[in-house]
Amino acid sequence: MTSTVPETTHYVPENLPTHLQHYINGSFVDSVSGKTFDVLDPVSNANYATAAAGQREDIDLAVAAAREAFVNGPWPRMKPRERARILNRIADAVEAQETRLADLESFDTGLPITQAKGQALRAAENFRFFADLIVAQFDDAMKVPGVQINYVNRKPIGVAGLITPWNTPFMLESWKLAPALATGNTVVLKPAEFTPLSASLWAQIFKDADLPDGVFNLVNGLGEEAGDALVKHPQVPLISFTGETTTGQTIFRNAATNLKGLSMELGGKSPCVVFADADLAAAIDSALFGVFSLNGERCTAGSRILVEQAIYDEFCEKYAARAQAIVVGDPHDPATEVGALVHPEHYEKVASYVELGKSEGRLLAGGGRPAHLPEGNYIAPTVFADVAPGARIFQEEIFGPVVTITAFETDAEALALANNTKYGLAAYIWTQNLTRAHTFSQNIEAGMVWLNSHNVRDLRTPFGGVKASGLGHEGGYRSIDFYTDQQAVHISLGAVHTPKFGSITTHAPQQG
Ligand code: NAD
Repeated sequence: MTSTVPETTHYVPENLPTHLQHYINGSFVDSVSGKTFDVLDPVSNANYATAAAGQREDIDLAVAAAREAFVNGPWPRMKPRERARILNRIADAVEAQETRLADLESFDTGLPITQAKGQALRAAENFRFFADLIVAQFDDAMKVPGVQINYVNRKPIGVAGLITPWNTPFMLESWKLAPALATGNTVVLKPAEFTPLSASLWAQIFKDADLPDGVFNLVNGLGEEAGDALVKHPQVPLISFTGETTTGQTIFRNAATNLKGLSMELGGKSPCVVFADADLAAAIDSALFGVFSLNGERCTAGSRILVEQAIYDEFCEKYAARAQAIVVGDPHDPATEVGALVHPEHYEKVASYVELGKSEGRLLAGGGRPAHLPEGNYIAPTVFADVAPGARIFQEEIFGPVVTITAFETDAEALALANNTKYGLAAYIWTQNLTRAHTFSQNIEAGMVWLNSHNVRDLRTPFGGVKASGLGHEGGYRSIDFYTDQQAVHISLGAVHTPKFGSITTHAPQQG
């Protein structure tokens, strides 16, 4: 097929595919209907490829392949060590693709190339981590002396449906693929339609690592079509979803008919609370990185900064000066700190919040498209101060390089502000006071808290949100629990003392 990439001065990776197919039962295939959708790059906003648009019949084929691999294939029955060897080979292959992956990811998502580079290593680490975990995994046995021995028979569940978003797509796919596969399930992955490019690497990686055919299947397509069919498929008992809260609500409703296991990582509007006793320089570095890295398109972004009144003016001044100096530019340029937003639709959404913010707060930095970038989905890092908690830019997830700053006087006021949103994903707290640090952390409504740090992940810890930010926690053994059934097996050690129903001889009815 000829390339649809227009002549342009901006960087285009070599050997860019111009058509992306599904991968079902070990083969690359188009949709049964032949339908496709266009894929664009966020710098030129030109279509560079088409992708097969999966419909219900494509999902049916992928689920049938995954079901066959689960019921009759070797994968669920392999010894953990055998599966771990394959997972480690997958990790090696992912690492070997680091440069290529970063190139494709940066091109397709608009992420700065320096930030896209870390994604392969993090994805590989997920496979190594779960390879280790399943080999070390053991389950409980419980004894009732002389009476019973009971044990847990942990088993894979079946075909897992994995539905992922467009921000750091490859890495987020690895979060689901690694534990789902490690535990012996088979999978159907439905990647985000804005960014299908990097997901196309998985098929070859899995093939080269000798993952049996049918264990991994990928169906591209729109959420309302391919995603919806996956969620409603009766032979898919598990759905792990990462995306917007409203999409999560739709999936929750649609999964009810078949009572599926659900894991949901949803949106966020996380607070970054800076007390007057904080290490101010470190807090500013972290509060900048926390919302402007990954173009601000990160679920755990610290997008509401709350600052103690005593240092408020100094914080705002220093923070805004640094935000203004952030380098916005072509994602492929190693000097770029903020690249292009993923898609023109998303750009419009973020730009509309920037305009709204001008009436809801005091603009300290940014405020729209940078003057030197007339084309592409670029928004300058934007800072609004004096934002009241009732403002929409304080309450709603913007998912771009936009941050609000609000002052507080007391710990109680800071806590009330921090918890004053429907979301509860992450929180960042900056203070040198040990008692306050712990008290505040424990009272904050957030699934994850970082003290004196931005988001640095330990793969063993639970990952997930509370309130509208999610349902259930993955991470470490919690992922193993999500992707397995824990069957309780009870064995009698001696004679069972069973009440002998029906064994009493019938008496003649008593005369009254
Ligand atoms: P989205 O909800 O629009 O889409 C996510 C995925 O769901 C896509 O693959 C999409 O095709 C699919 N989808 C859409 N409608 C569907 C339906 N009716 N049935 C089944 N699937 C459907 O989210 P997005 O815009 O791609 O991603 C951004 C969102 O993801 C933000 O809200 C962000 O906070 C959230 N996110 C959360 C985490 C987390 O761990 N909590 C991590 C990353 C992103």
